[in-house]
Amino acid sequence: MEKLSNPQITIETIKKYDFVFQKKFGQNFLIDEHVLNKIIAAAGVTKDDVVLEIGPGFGTMTQYLAEAAKEVIAVEIDKALIPILQDTLKDYDNISIVNEDILKVDIAALVAEKNNGNPIKVVANLPYYITTPIIMGLFESHVPLDNLTVMVQKEVASRMQAKPGSKDYGALSLAVQYYAEPYIAANVPPNCFIPRPNVGSAVIRLARFTNPPIVVRDEEFMFSLIRASFNQRRKTLQNSLVNGGIAVTKDRIADALSKMQLSPAVRGEALSLDQFGQLSDLLS
Ligand code: SAM
Repeated sequence: MEKLSNPQITIETIKKYDFVFQKKFGQNFLIDEHVLNKIIAAAGVTKDDVVLEIGPGFGTMTQYLAEAAKEVIAVEIDKALIPILQDTLKDYDNISIVNEDILKVDIAALVAEKNNGNPIKVVANLPYYITTPIIMGLFESHVPLDNLTVMVQKEVASRMQAKPGSKDYGALSLAVQYYAEPYIAANVPPNCFIPRPNVGSAVIRLARFTNPPIVVRDEEFMFSLIRASFNQRRKTLQNSLVNGGIAVTKDRIADALSKMQLSPAVRGEALSLDQFGQLSDLLS
């Protein structure tokens, strides 16, 4: 069967099924073979891999994944897409289609069942309205993961990869970099999709660390410090933490900053992950 990455085949499929795109599900389907090959290469998919695809749409990327991987599990929320997927993917025998909301799926149980609890790869052109909950949910629930290679909004990719002091650096950068090594594999313009999104996109690979790059006594407390620090970016770190509801006095924060040889006027955006870890251990 001719591939859906050929825009003509995607257009014929829309017509054949009278398919109406659902904005609420973030439906922008890929129609660029070059981008699809880049995603598969960035993820390093091989015949040993079980791959979870979030939101297969018409199955455009699923066709490429099925050819490169041992097995593909494709989780799609829109039930109107299920009969279409059964048609477009009928030539492959290594794909399971699951009609579910990915945020409600017990992915750890799925991995245990499909891959004996061994790490899987997650590959997706993500629905942009839930990018962060999907990614953070996968990391925080400790699903065995090799890497997550996903298409996201370009500015979200920049935030995930940002380093201290840059304008894009924030709570998302620190959360992602605690769990994974980010690498932007490609920038993707709107004309690679049907319909065209009104933002630029990027493919980012997040290679999961076996162990986080820092050791911190109370992970949850560190992340509450991080969130409070970036809630009021223009304020000093001390004021952000006090105003952000962290139950520590200003004097203790000042003392901790002095022990770390940081200025009392320092802002959260200047601190590295390692420094947030140290601050958390001094205050917790
Ligand atoms: N993978 C396809 C492609 O690249 O052409 C479609 C990508 S489209 C950006 C996002 C897909 O995610 C849509 O098919 C949409 O219906 C699906 N989706 C949206 N929310 C979802 C959710 N909560 N759980 C599972 N799938 C979802």
